[in-house]
Amino acid sequence: MSSPKRSIMWFRRDLRIGDNPALLAAIEAGDEIVPVFILDKKLIEITGSKRLAYLAQSLHSLDESLGNSLHVMVGDQVEVLNDLMKRYGATSVHISTEFEPYGAARDVRVEAAGIPLVRTGSPYAVAPGRVLKPSDATPYKVYTPFYRAWCVHGWRKPAETPKKINAVKPLESDRNFPEWQMPTDASVTIAGEKAALTRWKLFQKSGLDSYDEGRNLAGIDGTSKLSAHLKWGEIHPRTLLAELGDSKAHDTFRKEIAWREFYADVLFNNPHTDKDYYSARFAEMRYDKPDAKFDAWKQGKTGYPFVDAAMRQLIKEGWMHNRTRMVVASFLVKDLHLEWQLGAEFFEHHLVDFDVASNAHGWQWTAGSGTDASPYYRVFNPIEQGKRFDENGDYIRKYVPELAHLSAAEIHEPWLFLDGYSKGYPERIVDHAVERLESLARLQEIKADKPQDPRV
Ligand SMILES: Cc1cc2nc3c(=O)[nH]c(=O)nc-3n(C[C@H](O)[C@H](O)[C@H](O)COP(=O)(O)OP(=O)(O)OC[C@H]3O[C@@H](n4cnc5c(N)ncnc54)[C@H](O)[C@@H]3O)c2cc1C
Repeated sequence: MSSPKRSIMWFRRDLRIGDNPALLAAIEAGDEIVPVFILDKKLIEITGSKRLAYLAQSLHSLDESLGNSLHVMVGDQVEVLNDLMKRYGATSVHISTEFEPYGAARDVRVEAAGIPLVRTGSPYAVAPGRVLKPSDATPYKVYTPFYRAWCVHGWRKPAETPKKINAVKPLESDRNFPEWQMPTDASVTIAGEKAALTRWKLFQKSGLDSYDEGRNLAGIDGTSKLSAHLKWGEIHPRTLLAELGDSKAHDTFRKEIAWREFYADVLFNNPHTDKDYYSARFAEMRYDKPDAKFDAWKQGKTGYPFVDAAMRQLIKEGWMHNRTRMVVASFLVKDLHLEWQLGAEFFEHHLVDFDVASNAHGWQWTAGSGTDASPYYRVFNPIEQGKRFDENGDYIRKYVPELAHLSAAEIHEPWLFLDGYSKGYPERIVDHAVERLESLARLQEIKADKPQDPRV
């Protein structure tokens, strides 16, 4: 009897069984698959405890779906894959294509070492690099035309869920599941494909149809909270897009999925912008050095309630509402005059949904140095943003107990009320009105030439 033909399925940012073309390709390539996840020491070193614990949960969930056949290996990717290929007589290694700089370079290195990688699909509905201007076949630099062209390009239907997966039984020594525990004071979304699909169904029932209105209100559960699931590939954007209709709310949601794709495309075309300024002249601006004020920002102790609530949400949940991501980013860059990379690194450490493209370009958008950025002269007012997007103060009350005794009318400006500081809330570390002018002056030095946006 001839030995079974085997192929390796190397999971990375695609920790799911459903709608996974690379997995289908691996199954089709042989009689049995060897599913593997390789823990990357370099990435582990820079990843915070919440994201590591989430990954550990997600690997268990994937393993369960694979009938406990997941190989979880530690070590150099080339050595691990060579060893598995030899041991199981596997002839191909299947992956979902990686586009962000670190992962793409890793795959090139693995391939150069003689590992036959077969790329099928990617973490995106439309792979980065595909949407080009019809006029000159160059990439888009502005979101809105990208979005239109992305819609015209279109995407495939979700791939079928495999009916049966024949996988080899791993040795006990191949089951190196990490023991990363969620910090006891953290409150993070449950990981895994099942949890992702459950959350998607719940959001379809309770939030999607009012998404266009609810998405900006920080105090309500008005967004999908699928970002961590998307980051780890526990659900594919195609699965979401396939179930959207034409209403305004659904269209707004489709546009947000497209922001993720746009930023992935921008980073693919400008790989240095994960750390460098997209608009180079911003590197010339005068910035301050990080000091105690930066520590106060990190701890959610700036004295600005909406900013502090958001930073504390990040530390507790490993997630922050999009509205407040913009507000705290603006505060760091425009009120504290610090470089966006400092904030982006702090986000990278804490976010469970950390995505190199969305994070770097979300920060650059707010800092004004990004693609079709918020105009660089825009300075978010942390008090007005709070009043507008957390009118009753529920969001602040939830994360800042020192302010929970204040009414909706008081909570955004505790300094105006007698008992505003009675429970130990810190005083403001800067005066926003003063720092806004300082920020505009520094922008002027690098030639700000447009009037201030009156809307914020
Ligand atoms: C400074 C800053 C840093 C950010 N860092 C990240 C990050 O590391 N990882 C990340 O996934 N998102 C990041 N974002 C984008 C956005 O804040 C989150 O995707 C969103 O808050 C996730 O919540 P949700 O899943 O409920 O989003 P929803 O509102 O339900 O949107 C659905 C999905 O669309 C995508 N999306 C929505 N808004 C954006 C956006 N502005 N840019 C890119 N994709 C978007 C996400 O994949 C999201 O899960 C950042 C934004 C800013 C301003």
